[in-house]
Amino acid sequence: MKVNGSCLCQSVKFSFEIKDKHFDACHCSMCRKWGGGPSLTVESIGSIEFEGKENITTYQSSEWAERGFCNICGSHLFYRLKQHDFCNFNLGVIDDHEEFEFKSQIYIDSKPNNYSFSNKTKEMTEKEVLKAFGFSE
Ligand SMILES: [Zn+2]
Ligand SMILES: [Zn+2]
Repeated sequence: MKVNGSCLCQSVKFSFEIKDKHFDACHCSMCRKWGGGPSLTVESIGSIEFEGKENITTYQSSEWAERGFCNICGSHLFYRLKQHDFCNFNLGVIDDHEEFEFKSQIYIDSKPNNYSFSNKTKEMTEKEVLKAFGFSE
């Protein structure tokens, strides 16, 4: 199924396919630094159509990944792995995201003790995530 979304100022619009309506949380320290809290993300499938691409700035947050944001309003848009065909969009920039189901929490071992979600979800540690992406040694 296809979803649409936009940044806060509407200068960037996009659409992409998803498998089903769910989102995941990441508690890693980079996501918390970037977004001010744990990230809530939706995985896209295949190619992404952008409108206003010139208003997107990407920041290379690690050797293997970059994070994109609107360079006018600052909305955080996506996290993309450079070598893999993988791009996660932030839940809040997707239209009608209130319908999405909260499925899993990754980097659960990086989550500080001063907050936690009450939703019952699947949980994965950093090690399990890296293994799933084939990054482990
Ligand atoms: Zn914007
Ligand atoms: Zn993260």
